[in-house]
Amino acid sequence: MEGVVVKTSGQLYRVLSNDGSLVECNLKGNFRLKSISTTNPIVVGDHVCFEKNAHDIAMITAIKPRINEMVRRASNLSKQAHIIAANIDLAVLVVTTNYPKTYSVFIDRFLVAAESFKIRAIIVINKIDLYHEDELSVVEQWQTLYQSIGYPCYAVSAESGEGISTLHHSLIGKISLFSGNSGVGKSSLLNRLSPDSAAKTNAISEYHNKGMHTTTFSEMFPLEGGGFVIDTPGIKGFGMTGMSFADVSHYFPEIFKIASDCRFYNCTHTHEPGCAVIEAVQDGRIDPSRYTSYLSILDEFEKGKYR
Ligand code: GDP
Ligand code: ZN
Repeated sequence: MEGVVVKTSGQLYRVLSNDGSLVECNLKGNFRLKSISTTNPIVVGDHVCFEKNAHDIAMITAIKPRINEMVRRASNLSKQAHIIAANIDLAVLVVTTNYPKTYSVFIDRFLVAAESFKIRAIIVINKIDLYHEDELSVVEQWQTLYQSIGYPCYAVSAESGEGISTLHHSLIGKISLFSGNSGVGKSSLLNRLSPDSAAKTNAISEYHNKGMHTTTFSEMFPLEGGGFVIDTPGIKGFGMTGMSFADVSHYFPEIFKIASDCRFYNCTHTHEPGCAVIEAVQDGRIDPSRYTSYLSILDEFEKGKYR
């Protein structure tokens, strides 16, 4: 039998079988040995094969190759990667211009991570019911900027419901992974989109308060109309596995497009004469805030932050 993993908790995996039923599965022991580079061999979103053993216990016997996976930024303590989810269609970043303030570099770092994992990204600007004129003009600037690069950008209010149905429509039929700084209204939004997620999110934060590990439990919740949403409670950033210093510019689509016109093939776009990127920043074809983010991520790479 085959299905998709919708929940992981310790040794138990809940699989939505292709026949529509939910099956609690165990894992065959030999799996753990095969994947010592990660803390978790099977994650939500994985497509798996399973069968019942002689004791009528369902066992996962095989995992299908992943299209992509989203990895949590490694802690200093552990060299092992922790995979949050696999086979994700959409990485959704929830932000607020204020309450709390979101910095552009935070958005750009997220977009770079999504690009490096080959996952499409969208930005959701929440709490528009609260914004004054100057904040609304930031919303507009972000929408203009990010949509011009190719990232859809939705302005919504989880409180008033404004913009929610448009957002909902863009998620139907997809597996969407939600991230965002704490306080931006991620849980409120998920509760609107998938009422099933409400109780669970609260349960997870309770665990969190008692100091327990929150990230070993991961679950995707059904979206009305089809598809799933995945929450990432407590995850502050994503890893950039397999990415090198030279790759950073590849993950800024608008910079990458122009970089081919640089005089040197290995141009870092920081100081080189005849750099087409620097020229494009100067004449406004590349947004200065994006270029600042590019330089700051390069700098973080140089300091070994992503190694
Ligand atoms: P999370 O930490 O990102 O999950 O944020 P929460 O969903 O817990 O929301 C944080 C706070 O912001 C709560 O007090 C929510 O009631 C409030 N909040 C969430 N969305 C909105 C919104 O669209 N407008 C307003 N005014 N408040 C909101
Ligand atoms: Zn250059």
